[in-house]
Amino acid sequence: METKIDFSDVLIVPKVSTNPLNSRALINLDISFQSYFGLPLIVSNMPSIGCYRIANILSEHRIVTFIYKDNNEDFHLNELKRMKTTKYIGLTTGIKDFEIQRILNVTSQIPVGFINLDTANIYGNFASILKATSLLKQMRPETLLVVGNVCTPEVVEALANAGADIIKVGVGSGSACLTRSEVGVGMPQLSAVIDVVAAAKKWGVGVISDGGCVTSGDICKALGAGANFVMLGGMLANSLECDNLAVLNGETYVNFWGLGSRKQFELTNTSEKEYRPNEGRNMLVPASKSILDTFSQIKGALRSLCTYVGSETIENINTHIEFIRVSSQLNTSLAKYEIN
Ligand code: 5GP
Repeated sequence: METKIDFSDVLIVPKVSTNPLNSRALINLDISFQSYFGLPLIVSNMPSIGCYRIANILSEHRIVTFIYKDNNEDFHLNELKRMKTTKYIGLTTGIKDFEIQRILNVTSQIPVGFINLDTANIYGNFASILKATSLLKQMRPETLLVVGNVCTPEVVEALANAGADIIKVGVGSGSACLTRSEVGVGMPQLSAVIDVVAAAKKWGVGVISDGGCVTSGDICKALGAGANFVMLGGMLANSLECDNLAVLNGETYVNFWGLGSRKQFELTNTSEKEYRPNEGRNMLVPASKSILDTFSQIKGALRSLCTYVGSETIENINTHIEFIRVSSQLNTSLAKYEIN
């Protein structure tokens, strides 16, 4: 049996630059991917973070937000009409007919940058996924079509042929995810990205690494592994700008729950409740930071990464990256004395 690896199993090797980079400010963090131009960062379509309040803040910084699926058509239209730019928006749909129709209706009135065809278990619904992919690409050829989630390369060819522009990678790695413990299914995220990127290059599609980033270093590693974009959930769940804030004993928390959690099924899909395990956590995360502060740390890290490996731009950073396997990551001997 082959051993697969996660972000915590590797570090990136620094390289002496032949063309010295004198200032981090000169590093270019924008990427181009087909019609897209902006940062390679996406807010997950999870409850509480995949919301228009966050999208309105981040779109001005050229960061994408994938909006939570279970909003009705009028709500989407009202919010989108008020936005200055909608090209940093991804609208999420499942494979049910009414979900697809809802997104087609909205995008017939207001175009967006991405359509995100998202199911937790693509492997159990593969024929329906291919059908939905073809339909969405045929109806909205100009919009970038994201399909996921996968964690193995063998599904890439069929998805690319059906019309996917970008494949979303990650099964079991999310902070709100219980699939690994409850079902025993998953794939270490770094290997999943490396393997799917190789197939995606062959079939001419892009890759989003979705899930498992707990530090900005993990984002560097996901891009280093060849992902075009990185999607974030839990790293943003402490943001003051989230939906579903709760005040308890004078402290503000974000109610952040998984898309496969019991809470989500009770809200949206009561008919299937009896047959499904609880595959997601329901959490109260202390709201402690502005989302722009979190992204400013991430952007700083991406700039530093470029200077360590001799690249003037984050695009194609993987061509500069060498990973080494490690048995430990951090020296935490004084961590308990930290004061900020
Ligand atoms: P994070 O950045 O929090 O580690 O991962 C975010 C990703 O976790 C999401 O974009 C989504 O793909 C995945 N996810 C969200 N909720 C659930 C859930 O309840 N169960 C599972 N298996 N994955 C989830």
